[in-house]
Amino acid sequence: MARANVTGHSTSLTGMAPYGIRVVGDPVLRQPAAPVTEIDGRLARLAEDMIVTMHEAPGIGLAAPQVGVQKRLFVYDLHDGDGAHVVVNPVITETRGEWVYEEGCLSVPGLAWEIVRPKEVHLTGRDLDGKELSFEADELLARLFQHEVDHLDGVLLLERLDDDQRRQAKRALRDQVLATEGAGERRRLRLPGRG
Ligand code: ZN
Repeated sequence: MARANVTGHSTSLTGMAPYGIRVVGDPVLRQPAAPVTEIDGRLARLAEDMIVTMHEAPGIGLAAPQVGVQKRLFVYDLHDGDGAHVVVNPVITETRGEWVYEEGCLSVPGLAWEIVRPKEVHLTGRDLDGKELSFEADELLARLFQHEVDHLDGVLLLERLDDDQRRQAKRALRDQVLATEGAGERRRLRLPGRG
């Protein structure tokens, strides 16, 4: 997840992010990810590389499908001094209330929309030691959890937009494609249809 109200960040072109972040149009972002069956050193290495990739983006959350890995885990760092965290096999077990937040996504670069979602969630999962995690999250953290679990289900924030926002998104994404076609990149953008 990208924090929408952070602008003017300069990222180094010589950055050492281990992964490129997949962007809208890449089918990997539309596929549900498989549960993690083994928490081992390989998974820990993946999580570590995802954290570096998230920090360099920069973003506050990153799900494995965004780096092309179809496994149910995500990393996050709210930059609140608490450091980066990993949640394996996350499940939202409860939601409450409503909250509007201007939400962005590293896989839909440069765009953000005010989106209504539940304000509080209860999320369970496991850490890299296999220990059970249980969070009562509110506002930004709750939003991040919902956004990342959506990624694991193959859902992009574009599917959370209202009709007006969806029209605006289609225009903006079409413009982005036109802008990159000069570089020889042709991507078919498929926005979620209604219903
Ligand atoms: Zn995202």
